Amino acid sequence: MSVFHLKYRPTKISELDLVEVADTLRNFLKSNDIPQSFLFSGPKGSGKTSAARILARAINCQERKDGEPCNKCSNCQEILSGGSIDIIEMDAASNRGIEDVRGLKEKAYLSPGKLKYKIFIIDEVHMMTKEAFNALLKLIEEPPSHTIFILCTTDVSKIPETVMSRLIKVDFRKGDKKALKASLTKIIEGEKIEIDEKTIDFILNKSDGSFRNLQKNFNELVLSLGKSIKYEDLVSFYINKSGDYNEVEFEEDLSVGDIKKILERLEKMAIDGVDFVDFRQNLMEYFMKKLLLIFDVGVGKKSDLGVAQLESLITLLIRAAKQEKETDIDQLPLELAVIDFIDNNKKNPLVKPKDEVKAEIKEEKEVEDNVVATVNCEEPLVLEVTGMDLEKIINSWGNILLTIKPFNHSVEAFLRASRPIKFVNRKLTLEVFYPFHKDRLEEPKNKKIVEDGLFRVFGVELMFECVLGKSRKAPLIIQNDTPVENVSDQLTDKKVDNKDLYDVAKDIFG
Ligand SMILES: [Zn+2]
Repeated sequence: MSVFHLKYRPTKISELDLVEVADTLRNFLKSNDIPQSFLFSGPKGSGKTSAARILARAINCQERKDGEPCNKCSNCQEILSGGSIDIIEMDAASNRGIEDVRGLKEKAYLSPGKLKYKIFIIDEVHMMTKEAFNALLKLIEEPPSHTIFILCTTDVSKIPETVMSRLIKVDFRKGDKKALKASLTKIIEGEKIEIDEKTIDFILNKSDGSFRNLQKNFNELVLSLGKSIKYEDLVSFYINKSGDYNEVEFEEDLSVGDIKKILERLEKMAIDGVDFVDFRQNLMEYFMKKLLLIFDVGVGKKSDLGVAQLESLITLLIRAAKQEKETDIDQLPLELAVIDFIDNNKKNPLVKPKDEVKAEIKEEKEVEDNVVATVNCEEPLVLEVTGMDLEKIINSWGNILLTIKPFNHSVEAFLRASRPIKFVNRKLTLEVFYPFHKDRLEEPKNKKIVEDGLFRVFGVELMFECVLGKSRKAPLIIQNDTPVENVSDQLTDKKVDNKDLYDVAKDIFG
């Protein structure tokens, strides 16, 4: 079986996946007033190079009709054979220097060998150095009359304004469902594949708007499942497909801090040519939704990450978006964001290793003669329904306090003077050290404030109760995942307690 994206690549303007691009190019060709310099801009896999090659034939075709190349005349045939010396393709990602442009210039000033026009197709043109762009600018300012330049880019923002002003821009975009479906239907019909609408729909949603990815994925699918494709078989196919990192998996790996796994996956994706701008954009949208969900905006499954973590992650992704323009290593900005996120959370861990928590609880047990409430060391730490456990609550304690403070300062103060000691069946047990604190926290309206706060941070409904500890040395808990400036604010507020606060925090968090 031949490769779909080669076998089914468009050969005529009318076969281009994007109708508006086809119309634009056809209009130029019909008018016979063909611009000498084009800029094809748009995401990877949107069909820029295919369109450039068809345009090269249409321009040189001896029998052009309605703006279409005949694909039969000797010029068309010569180009189709791939052997024409008058069609010069260059990848500016690997030929980005001034010497490369000088090489182009030499070729441009020589007359065409056989065709009417020499066509220069320069891919990833935004990767050129500044000097190379300057040299290119001179060439396209006064191009030899027998030359046409088709520059292609995935990132228009990196092209100097001076160069831009000389180019006729043709915008390529991601395929919408209709265009993607039309593209897939050609293959389905051509290969006589049995497949129903639901299955097609699923595949289209997986394509990320890229025609090339769609064709490649479908090719793999047919190679692996044969010509009768059933919906049930798809799920396992997509799960097993390597390199395809989805947002949910990314979130899971991030929340357990598996930095090695994440970086390995990102490196693999880079080799597979995944579009990192797209991937990062998807992550931003995904985590933004998760953040909104904490505040009950939207519907869906809530994240294990709390408000502070999601905010920090989104901020790092925004930073990555800015850095994308400053580096040619596509995966690097995202990798830096991941490293910083996990590094920040190492200082303020999302989840502590189980052993540490067990050790803490054991230590507590040793001093428990001071405390009324005891924690059973054998109690399971993780609870089924919510995926929550005591360690998670302890680690997010600072975040919980910050979330509650705006609603009621004294409730926050009572909580700060307590400590979480147990979490079973969605019920959190807090140890408090003064009867007054217990009474106030258990007042229905205050109880609601605390439970709402827990919900905002964890996205699940939790209850809580207070038990009175005997110890007079009230173990306060310092905020563990609060930004540094907030911690210092609080410390200046509460200077008196500073030393105790630190001692206790040290006891609890090590
Ligand atoms: Zn022709």
